[in-house]
Amino acid sequence: MRHVRRLCLVLGDQLSLDLASLAGLEPEQDTVLLAEVMEEASHVPHHPQKITLIFSAMRHFAEALRQRGFAVQYVTLDDPDNSGSLPGELLRWQALLKPDELHLTECGDWRLEQSLKDSGLPIQWHADGRFFCSRAQFARWADGKQQLRMEFFYREMRRTHSVLLNGDGSPVGGAWNFDEENRKALPKGTAAPYPKGFSTDVITREVLTLVAERFSTHYGALDTFDYPVTHGDAQALWEYFLDFGLPAFGDYQDAMASDEPYLFHARISAALNIGLLDVRTLCSDVESAYWAGRIPINAAEGFIRQLLGWREYVRGVYWLKMPGYADGNVFANSRPLPEFYWTARTRMNCMRQAIGQSLKHAYAHHIQRLMVTGNFALLAGIAPSQICDWYLAIYMDAFDWVELPNTLGMVMHADGGYLGSKPYCASGQYIKRMSDYCRGCAYKVSESTTEDACPFNALYWHFVMRHGDLLRGNQRMGMIYKNLERMPAAKQQALWQRGQALLAKLDAGESL
Ligand code: FAD
Ligand code: SF4
Repeated sequence: MRHVRRLCLVLGDQLSLDLASLAGLEPEQDTVLLAEVMEEASHVPHHPQKITLIFSAMRHFAEALRQRGFAVQYVTLDDPDNSGSLPGELLRWQALLKPDELHLTECGDWRLEQSLKDSGLPIQWHADGRFFCSRAQFARWADGKQQLRMEFFYREMRRTHSVLLNGDGSPVGGAWNFDEENRKALPKGTAAPYPKGFSTDVITREVLTLVAERFSTHYGALDTFDYPVTHGDAQALWEYFLDFGLPAFGDYQDAMASDEPYLFHARISAALNIGLLDVRTLCSDVESAYWAGRIPINAAEGFIRQLLGWREYVRGVYWLKMPGYADGNVFANSRPLPEFYWTARTRMNCMRQAIGQSLKHAYAHHIQRLMVTGNFALLAGIAPSQICDWYLAIYMDAFDWVELPNTLGMVMHADGGYLGSKPYCASGQYIKRMSDYCRGCAYKVSESTTEDACPFNALYWHFVMRHGDLLRGNQRMGMIYKNLERMPAAKQQALWQRGQALLAKLDAGESL
């Protein structure tokens, strides 16, 4: 048998030829290992399209490596010798190949990284260079700060990486943040770009068959799979967005519309998170489009803020605060996740739309996740671990480092305000302003306490009232509590009772 110098395990979300642990690999003496394992595919009931994406992209990546002359060991899910876990596969292949060294790039999931560290294998770890900010750099930035704020981190990142700056170091356009210009509702008749889909090849069709057989109990459609699974297709999706989505991204970033799952969003998060796209190239393409006069500043800054700001920030918080972060539950919520999160069987049109498209496409855009499904879970007091598992399972782009801080921190405020300064709680009025959902709803958004009143309205005030002790002192909630105090006692009581009735229905297992 050929002597193996290095064995390099590449995970399903590390499919980049520039991966740190692949640097310096010699095709003649080193081996790359990729393994499809049941533990990773099923520790939450991942959407079947997400499993398809990862397995298919892994198989395509293995082909790309082989074409470059690398020796690749690829373990399929149905391989009879498959041990079912990544530590198990690394142990097995170490015993079989007897390499001099084992190499691995740091993981995107604390649980997995810990289990590999606990395996006792002499792994040489590499920092993940696919981010602007390393774990250590973020820890240095956060050191000594009582509370972290994304905005300050983001400005620091703009300066450090010279992104959208004038020659004198000031921000292009005269401000660091054009968030105020990212909140337009979609005018009636505005056409969103036609979604760009990708047809399946032989490899993807084989994976689709495997997933249909082995994961038939997982929620979500499989026949609508049209995601890119190669670097080339991911690049085509990105270029399509640069031409057709990005110019209006800034204006309509927060808008929602019935039967429009993507609007002007890029839909690139899954490809980016698994390594099919490179974040530095994306930011530089957006900046070039701005300097070339192809997009306005609110689109350029708005998009770069998501990548250079939010994405790097949530990753930093995750690695700084894990494993304790996952246990955060400042409101002591314990309500189970309602069944309709898995079926979309609800009379609330906004929830039906957001959940329905998530089941169909494993996708919802940021405002749907934050202000519809997330907002409902916050107002209804859902147990953070249950709603976090739902987001981790249902979305194509969901990996623990990015899903957990967004859900537990940003949406549920369960970390007590470490990641964000206030809960993003809102009544039905917000959804009405930013979408056309209320027009097609069985509930009336203009009502709060009647039987047919929008559930978000009473639940919003119920949330505000029941957490007064924790939130009244929060400066950014001051106006809300002033409005509550000005409200007649009878109105407050009616809202409380309606809130109680809605929560009782959830507790009885009924849909709303
Ligand atoms: P666009 O709207 O076109 O945005 C461009 C890119 O910016 C995205 O592709 C993404 O890479 C990045 N981005 C934007 N916002 C965030 C953010 N808050 N955190 C990290 N990256 C961001 N994103 C994930 O990639 N994985 C997740 O598991 C995930 N879970 C989320 C859970 C909740 C409750 C919320 C509120 C947001 C979550 N996000 C997550 C962030 C965001 O919703 C998605 O990145 C975005 O919807 C992906 O679609 P897109 O590519 O069309 O994004
Ligand atoms: Fe959602 Fe309420 Fe509007 Fe219905 S009325 S779509 S439940 S916000």
